[in-house]
Amino acid sequence: MPDVPDRKDVNLRVGERDFKYYIFDWDDNILHMPTRIHLEYRRPEDGVWVPRKVSTSFYAMVRNDTEHYRAPGGNWENAFIEFQDQDQPCESKFLTDTRTALLRVLSGEVPPAPSFETLRETLREGRLFAIVTARGHEPESLRRAVELFIETVLTSDEKREMLRNLRGYRACFDGVTEFGTDAEELDYYLSLNRYHAVTNPKFRTWVESQTKGEIDRAKLSERAKQFAIRDFVEHVIHIITKIGGNQLNRPVSVGFSDDDIRNVEVVEHYIRDELGKRFPGIKFCVYDTSDPALTDGRKVIVSGQLDLGF
Ligand SMILES: [Mg+2]
Repeated sequence: MPDVPDRKDVNLRVGERDFKYYIFDWDDNILHMPTRIHLEYRRPEDGVWVPRKVSTSFYAMVRNDTEHYRAPGGNWENAFIEFQDQDQPCESKFLTDTRTALLRVLSGEVPPAPSFETLRETLREGRLFAIVTARGHEPESLRRAVELFIETVLTSDEKREMLRNLRGYRACFDGVTEFGTDAEELDYYLSLNRYHAVTNPKFRTWVESQTKGEIDRAKLSERAKQFAIRDFVEHVIHIITKIGGNQLNRPVSVGFSDDDIRNVEVVEHYIRDELGKRFPGIKFCVYDTSDPALTDGRKVIVSGQLDLGF
């Protein structure tokens, strides 16, 4: 136990916890966002292509139906124009849409998306996580949305509990005995997490430099998610090693949740073929949240120790 005075606002019990981390897709996994994809739809009566804006969940169903849906003029950047950070004077469209989506959940207008409560619990427990989305925003925009989630979703008690846990982690693993303000501790925690919008131009440049142009553009989005996941796993392994956690013989698990069945399949294969082999000590769980009626989604243990569900 670290040498920290017995303080009610420091939870030293976190030092005994397992190492559990989460990777969250955002749209329709955390929140049903009002952001729309701009497509063209071929009218069956006359075969004419007409503009049609669709939700992300609708797009997940029709993305391979090229007979009826296409990008405006074949340009996918125009289709996802709302998923980029434009030159906004005040706040990103992502933050505005997140606010709208959060208000709809909090007012009871729409039910929360399947991993909404898991993100809430992850934040309350002060565990590390990554947001990995096919959007193209800056990392800062995603982080601000998480801050808004904390502000509006967590109750005062939950925020207090989160800060007790964050101070506990700092005491147990960083040897900290004096703490910053609440805002500083929260800022430090949020800076440890990862915010990857994988169609962001800078992120794409990084993936392309890693793969030396070997992947065609159509596959880049799927591959980019794999890179983002690998980056987060390497990041948490680095942290565990730095704090001496690898000596503790504690179970390490990484969960990944996504509502797009294609992404789920691609990530399952990626974990089986590559990540699971590179990190045999980690338990990887994939949560398929494509069925909105199923809270937390369908859990698949892809690699690592068996979970008997007891
Ligand atoms: Mg999604």
